[in-house]
Amino acid sequence: MKKVIKSEAEWRAELSPIEFQVSRQADTERAFTGKFWDHHVPGIYTCVCCQTPLFSSDAKFDSGCGWPSYFTALNPDHVREIVDKSHGMTRTEIVCNICDAHLGHVFPDGPPPTGLRYCINSASLRFDPTP
Ligand SMILES: [Zn+2]
Repeated sequence: MKKVIKSEAEWRAELSPIEFQVSRQADTERAFTGKFWDHHVPGIYTCVCCQTPLFSSDAKFDSGCGWPSYFTALNPDHVREIVDKSHGMTRTEIVCNICDAHLGHVFPDGPPPTGLRYCINSASLRFDPTP
């Protein structure tokens, strides 16, 4: 799959300040403030930077954590895991495999069938409703 590579200035011009801060600088939006934590419409969540399809509403569940949560990625080739040792914790960061946007983290406390919780920033996502 072809990578999308742009300069920091290009990303900054294309994204809103919060989208840039979260997706390109690995920041975290405050819980319960994003567009999608309480969003229940059928469709596909795409990368805010490169529009790659990342998560489906079919895999979205209400985790109560204040960020959109999914028990699986739409296509495992579209996301990449990175060990994140920041803030004195060892967590698994999730990035877009196409443009390296920071998306969020994955935790092993999700529901069946995967037992995973992809805890994703709304600011790293756009939404395409099912027509
Ligand atoms: Zn991307």
